[in-house]
Amino acid sequence: MIATPERATAVILAGSNVDRERCLPESIRQLRRHPDIEVRAVSTCFESSAVGGPPDAPDFYNAAALVHTSLDPETLRGELRAIEDRLGRVRTDDPNEPRTIDLDILFYDDVVGDFDGWSLPDPDIATQLYAAVPLADVAPRWVHPVIGKTAIEIVDDLTASNPEVIPNMAIRLSTPYTTRAIDDFDDTDDVYAPRLEALIRDQLLEIGEDPEREGLVRTPLRVAKAMDFLTSGYSTSLDEVVNDAIFDAEGASEMVVVRDVEYYSMCEHHMLPFFGKATVAYLPKGKIIGLSKVARIVDVFARRLQVQERLTNQVADAMTEILDPLGVGVVIEGKHLCMMMRGVQKQDSNMITSAMRGTFRTDPRTRSEFLSFTG
Ligand code: ZN
Repeated sequence: MIATPERATAVILAGSNVDRERCLPESIRQLRRHPDIEVRAVSTCFESSAVGGPPDAPDFYNAAALVHTSLDPETLRGELRAIEDRLGRVRTDDPNEPRTIDLDILFYDDVVGDFDGWSLPDPDIATQLYAAVPLADVAPRWVHPVIGKTAIEIVDDLTASNPEVIPNMAIRLSTPYTTRAIDDFDDTDDVYAPRLEALIRDQLLEIGEDPEREGLVRTPLRVAKAMDFLTSGYSTSLDEVVNDAIFDAEGASEMVVVRDVEYYSMCEHHMLPFFGKATVAYLPKGKIIGLSKVARIVDVFARRLQVQERLTNQVADAMTEILDPLGVGVVIEGKHLCMMMRGVQKQDSNMITSAMRGTFRTDPRTRSEFLSFTG
């Protein structure tokens, strides 16, 4: 057993050769969202031909992420497996089977050891350019605890002994990852989403601001993090949110009403916030859901670029899909900053939208009972 340090530094290698334009960035995004993993730097994305597979195996995209984590190596590996599963990885006996995503721990602090079917540091570091090159991109001065060489020196050794492999690794792609190598592991150079940060910096220039002035220096980073949070609904699945919080409730026939669920969203026309409260109700048909989950379902759809009508319908449809109830009613009210701050400047305009499904649509009594709760 290895004692878990307060916070370890590790490099995770991501590889994909199925649907790779989507899967590779998504795997990095999921790492970023993990509460116990802090992504400090992401390498350039490299393309390489498949090693060991059939000659027609599709080429890989590889990228490395330097992370800080409070998870021990085996728990971290378990979490990586969970991300692989979410990205549709199917494991077969064939180690060369094309895959949507492969996430491996290249190193974890100075840990040297064998685990159940894998080891640290990853043996591929010393033998495979597809591992060593992305590693050297994010942690060039990391010293291999067994070989005693830095990542850069390992790459030099590999390219010297395999000159024919170089062309395969020479393609540096312009992708969400531009090179943001961290020379050492201090915390001075926080890196989050290099491409988005560059765009926000350009936006500051375009509006006549000076991105270098003190108050703005870290603004691109902060905006990128905020945007990631505010749009996290795109990569959150309903299953994930609902989890196991659906319960059998034979005989439950009273209307369930969850009032005043606070939400914050952004209008897709101006990318400005709109926010307010949602009231969600349903008439159960044998299944009920934990109350706190209703708020999380609203969040899944609110944390995207939205229009309020669609948000309302999506919440109603999600409740219908999950619970198969007799009926669903959703009423959402929202204040739209794009209306309040610009143009007409109607300060108090509150927009109200509703969506009715099943008996909430067909039975006037059910509908009016529900509407009596919405005040
Ligand atoms: Zn708007």
